[in-house]
Amino acid sequence: MSNGIGTKCVQAGYTPGNGEPRQIPIVQSTTFKYDSSAHMGKLFDLEDNGYFYTRLQNPTNDYVAAKIAALEGGTAGMLTSSGQAANFYSIFNIASCGDHVVASSAIYGGTYNLFAVTMKRMGIDFTFVSPDCTDEELDAAFKPNTKALFGETIANPALTVLDIERFAQAAHRHGVPLVVDNTFATPVNCRPFEWGADIVTHSTTKYMDGHGAGVGGCIVDSGKFDWNKYADKFPGLTTPDESYHGVTYTERFGLEGAFITKATAQLMRDFGSIQSPQNAFILNLGLESLHVRMRRHCENGQAVAEFLSKHPKINWVRYCGLPGDPYYEVAQKYLPNGSCGVVSFGVKGGRAAAEAFMGHLKIAAIETHVADARTCCLHPASSTHRQMNDQELEAAGVSPDLVRYSCGLEDSADLIADISQALDMI
Ligand SMILES: *Cc1c(COP(=O)(O)O)cnc(C)c1O
Repeated sequence: MSNGIGTKCVQAGYTPGNGEPRQIPIVQSTTFKYDSSAHMGKLFDLEDNGYFYTRLQNPTNDYVAAKIAALEGGTAGMLTSSGQAANFYSIFNIASCGDHVVASSAIYGGTYNLFAVTMKRMGIDFTFVSPDCTDEELDAAFKPNTKALFGETIANPALTVLDIERFAQAAHRHGVPLVVDNTFATPVNCRPFEWGADIVTHSTTKYMDGHGAGVGGCIVDSGKFDWNKYADKFPGLTTPDESYHGVTYTERFGLEGAFITKATAQLMRDFGSIQSPQNAFILNLGLESLHVRMRRHCENGQAVAEFLSKHPKINWVRYCGLPGDPYYEVAQKYLPNGSCGVVSFGVKGGRAAAEAFMGHLKIAAIETHVADARTCCLHPASSTHRQMNDQELEAAGVSPDLVRYSCGLEDSADLIADISQALDMI
């Protein structure tokens, strides 16, 4: 029996035994006790399952990672301390100094900086391609040392929609996995594995938590990418890890478990970006209502986008649920039940008008956050991107008049009335 996405949101990942807690227990302990050193040794050799230190694994985190893996239809998952850590691990687990990665240019600014600046300093080169590039342009970006292709289902903040199937085919033509950051869509609205993606990442800080309560991230493996077939490209997975007692991850843990076990045993051990069990518990509360909340976020996004598209003081609106949006068709394929609650638009009058408009909003709060229960909005030109002049902003795809508006769970009539009165004031 295969449960629907709503049942998985509520129940997957943790099945209490007789007389055990109904809600997942918070195992607030750094360490775990054993009766003999011999037993402990087996854990260190990965010969026995068990917890020994929360930097590597913790039961609370594992329940929640298992739920997200079930939601995505993957074989294994791990929680990380943030979305940044998840995206870093997803690439660094298979690429090292001297390697190359192809990534969509329409990605979160923090991820772009991680790839183009920080990971470049680690000796990993990135080539960025437009999500709308042709197959020929995509193929031309690959090199013999390319180890992965990366993109976002719905890009933050560009709101472009990735043609996942086409990108997966390109990755597989070149013998590498497609890694998809599925933060904005969530597995409720899109499951990239069903379209050929191999690894999925999340900033759980956004809709999954959904209440602005805890920063976190997650990586899920589909278990489908055949590392052995391209063994010479991925020696870290297919040859003995001398830093971990000579274990060969694909041999010992199979295709279903190799990627996440390596990320845990090696990267979490060395970098330590573990999520706290308290935050994992809070994240799980968010996941229990994710399917209910996403529907409301999308209804509000659609209503606000439709209202804005008809308003005389609005220059342009981007929302893939609007017929006529450049990504409407591709969204119909990958996001038939809705996309997300984030709408971007331009206010007539440019930078000054956008700033003035936001100052008059009463329900929407000005925040750098998105994908929260409470509606929030941001004027990138005067905040996150304020170091850029108007020309540089246009080049980055962020026009000076752009307002990013993240619809929360309030009544759409109230959001629209608030936007309407603020536009009347300018
Ligand atoms: C916010 C975000 C991230 C970074 O996540 P943090 O939890 O803030 O570290 C990565 N990808 C996307 C698409 C995001 O929106």
